[in-house]
Amino acid sequence: MRVLLVEDDPDLSRQLKASLDDAGYAVDHAPDGEEAQFLGETEPYDAVILDLGLPKVDGVSVLERWRRDGRTTPVLILTARGAWSEKVAGFDAGADDYLTKPFHTEELLARLRALLRRAAGQASPTLTCGGLRLDPRSARASVNGEPLRLTSLEYRLLHYLMMQQGRVISRTELVEHLYDQDFDRDSNTIEVFVGRVRKKIGADRIETVRGLGYRLVCLEDEAGAGA
Ligand code: CA
Repeated sequence: MRVLLVEDDPDLSRQLKASLDDAGYAVDHAPDGEEAQFLGETEPYDAVILDLGLPKVDGVSVLERWRRDGRTTPVLILTARGAWSEKVAGFDAGADDYLTKPFHTEELLARLRALLRRAAGQASPTLTCGGLRLDPRSARASVNGEPLRLTSLEYRLLHYLMMQQGRVISRTELVEHLYDQDFDRDSNTIEVFVGRVRKKIGADRIETVRGLGYRLVCLEDEAGAGA
């Protein structure tokens, strides 16, 4: 899953970006409203964390424009302590959730997980697909009860496929949701990652739909199913 972090405080930005990286997200950072506007209009984020007090263009204006243009990406706003009117303005502009500074990073991560879950129409905090299980809280996955050892990119790939289960997902879509903007993107490397994940979860759990992309297949939890 790919997240846009919009925050002008350099220390807080660095700290949040590191925590989001650790939690398994691809993260882009915008330090002002202008860049946030641009990135939000050109990249398909799964969620946005948006500070409201920003240089150049304020967060409420950025959000209003995204919503006016029909962008439905879930947005969590960060507001200053005591500024209740900011929260009201943020929600009225189209925010989905908020956090008041200062906050605990764990709470931000939990709210982000809830936003992503709701956006994907998932009710349970743990994602399951047949014998596959993935828990975004611990960034761990298992197949038929056996823990999987995944690199961060492999985890990101499986997380995205599980959030979008049932859909055919193109290589381009995977590239856009797995890598941050600084990553040297090459849709051929996606095939390599899919191959590695297949080896770990069982080749028949990721179907190749010729000319279209990939689809996660939910095989029942049975001995040897994914061998
Ligand atoms: Ca600020």
